[in-house]
Amino acid sequence: MTQKTKRWPVIDLGACVKCGGCIEVAPEVFFYNEAGDYFEVAELRSYDIELVDEAIKLCPADCIGWEGEP
Ligand code: SF4
Repeated sequence: MTQKTKRWPVIDLGACVKCGGCIEVAPEVFFYNEAGDYFEVAELRSYDIELVDEAIKLCPADCIGWEGEP
């Protein structure tokens, strides 16, 4: 069963190198904001911990993290 969480992922936009890797790993969580030319976290009621952790692990700029309750 997929784990859900009250935490939410955040992207440090200053560090993001816009590689698009997070979208490949978790397309329902991350998306590209074309108008603003930055990567963004979708507003979801809960986030799949495993998927987000995978994106965190693969992000080359190490700029994705968790906020909220552990
Ligand atoms: S994987 Fe990391 S560096 Fe690449 S677009 Fe996503 S947040 Fe930015």
